[in-house]
Amino acid sequence: MCQNSYYDAVVNFSTKKNDGITYDEMISDGLCVFNKIPGFISASLFLKSSNKIDYYLKDSTCIDHEVVQTIFNELFNNGEIAKSINDKEISGFDENIYNNQHNFILILPLIIQSGIAGLIILVIDKKDSDFERLKDLCKIHSNYFVLLLMNYDLYSELENLKMTDSKIVHYSKDIVQSTKELKKILDSIQVGILIIDKTSNQIIDVNKAASKLFGLGKYELIGTLVQEHFVYNDEGKNHITHNSSEELLLKKNDGTFIPIIKTDALISVANEEYTIKSFIDITERKKMEEALHTAHIELEHRVEERTLELSEANKSLQNEITDRIKAEKDLLKIYWAVHQSPAAVIITDLNGNIEYVNPKFSEMTGYKYQEVINQNPKILKSGEMNSEEYKNIWDTLLDGREWRGEYRNRKKDGTLYWVSSSISPVRSDNRDVTHYLSVQEDITERKHFLEELIITKQQAEKSEKLKSSLLANMSHEIRTPLIGILGYSQILMNEIHETDLLNMVNDIYSSGNRLLKSLNNVLFLSHIENISIEIELTKVNVVEELERCILENNKFAMEKETSLELNINKKDLYVEVEKDLFNHAIGNLIDNALKYTAKGSVLVIADYALHNGKNWVIIKVQDTGIGIAKDDQKKIFEAFRQVSEGYSRNFEGCGLGLTITQKIVDIFRGEISIESEPTKGSTFSIWLPLIS
Ligand code: ADP
Repeated sequence: MCQNSYYDAVVNFSTKKNDGITYDEMISDGLCVFNKIPGFISASLFLKSSNKIDYYLKDSTCIDHEVVQTIFNELFNNGEIAKSINDKEISGFDENIYNNQHNFILILPLIIQSGIAGLIILVIDKKDSDFERLKDLCKIHSNYFVLLLMNYDLYSELENLKMTDSKIVHYSKDIVQSTKELKKILDSIQVGILIIDKTSNQIIDVNKAASKLFGLGKYELIGTLVQEHFVYNDEGKNHITHNSSEELLLKKNDGTFIPIIKTDALISVANEEYTIKSFIDITERKKMEEALHTAHIELEHRVEERTLELSEANKSLQNEITDRIKAEKDLLKIYWAVHQSPAAVIITDLNGNIEYVNPKFSEMTGYKYQEVINQNPKILKSGEMNSEEYKNIWDTLLDGREWRGEYRNRKKDGTLYWVSSSISPVRSDNRDVTHYLSVQEDITERKHFLEELIITKQQAEKSEKLKSSLLANMSHEIRTPLIGILGYSQILMNEIHETDLLNMVNDIYSSGNRLLKSLNNVLFLSHIENISIEIELTKVNVVEELERCILENNKFAMEKETSLELNINKKDLYVEVEKDLFNHAIGNLIDNALKYTAKGSVLVIADYALHNGKNWVIIKVQDTGIGIAKDDQKKIFEAFRQVSEGYSRNFEGCGLGLTITQKIVDIFRGEISIESEPTKGSTFSIWLPLIS
């Protein structure tokens, strides 16, 4: 009955039990399996008698029944049995009980349908055995043993079985058959199944699929710890769970790993809890997943690359379109600029044949666009330009330079016209000359105008000469007799005592004087216009000059009932002037002020002023005379213009005084202004730049 190894014994036992053996045989065989465990001394089965606390020895192996019964009694009496039953655990090994220091005694309660059906008492050699492993093996086997006993419904039908009730035996056989079928089913399933003892985590049964996946025989797996066979992927970092399932790696016998999906289920059999682990190999699925993942990544990558390529292509296309639109717009702009140019534009090929002319060309020459295309610009030739000049144009162009010049062309109707022309080479991107461009402006009118201008200038110069000789003649021919008249009338004034005659001579003298004054003014104006560029300015103290002017005009003031005063706070006020001209200008203003003030006062003021960021000396000649209306204030500076003009005027003078004064102030780079109100008086101000 006893086999060579524990596993063989288990195999033998498990095959035999289904072969219609008796319960006694089964028990005997079951106990015999213990016999194969290393260090084992004895195994005995005590069954509980119904309705009693007593246990009777059913079978034993290796030690005779009496010894076994003695052991049981001792254990029972010292409470070990009770303790083990109450704890429902294997316990009670006490080295003193069996008087043998080297043995363990294991008490294994047989728990069937929540009740204690009996006890297996094992005696094990402490010295020879790996007790922990031995204990586990014993427990696995005893559980299996119990399972079988339960299948035979040992507990409830034990008595009946004794009576060999054929019906029950038959029923039990059915159960055994069912168990066998169940095992067949489990083995036929392609899912790996492990039955694990929940407490010890040891495998107690496996199906064929599991054994195949592990690459281990069924009995190589039974008894081993379940955790030895599985590892978590990535040490559990990316551990995947699906509801109750989880993905992990199964460690094969050859050391390789295969991915699996595992599901755990708990079952409870005879108050013992078991874990059913079912798992399937997902290597292929994983491979496919990986391939799918790789393909997906590759696809994404390619899509990304393609998208990038497309976006780049789109961008450069956009840029190209933008550039092209811009270039087209620019081209259009240039075309319209050329088309609408106020100058005639001619574009020829390198042989000088016309490829384009703008509307202005047609307007200028009378030739229509179609008439000149492919023609040579020679058609415009007036025949006035010699071959040397033509050669010069071509030499310049062939040298890559621009030619500019003026010449006469002939219109379609034969009319000659002047053009100012520029002819230049047109270069392509690679700097090659592809065309010639000629821009021509009709300057016929300008030429005529210039000619007229030259003639006018010549005439003016002639007139100027005439004027100069007229003035010279006037100066000599009028002034000489006038001086004679004035001299003789003065002599006569001293010689004649008759009042009537004296009055006549006085009139001759004053009229002559007035004529001389006017003549002098005319000559002075002409003189000042001629010499204005040559006049040399010097630094002059205005204060001193004004004092002199007052003195000179005092006589005239005294003749009238008008006072003439000078009001200056400063000692020095320097300006750059020509002394005589300065005195002439100031003299004119004082003379006018006195002349147009019948009765009142004339005040000459000089001061310093800052105006428009510049330092000025202002000389004011203020009178309380007749004043000048706003409308007349401008015209009085024009030559020969007066407020009262014509034969009915009340005042002497030829209207040149202010014109001369204005010219003198201009020469001094100064300004003259007027403030006046009729009947209230006038103030003439001369502004001259102050110098230090
Ligand atoms: P005229 O020799 O006529 O004085 P002016 O050129 O000196 O020539 O003056 C032009 C005109 O300006 C004068 O005819 C006069 O009508 C007017 N005018 C000049 N100064 C004064 C003034 N101080 N008061 C009023 N009118 C003046």
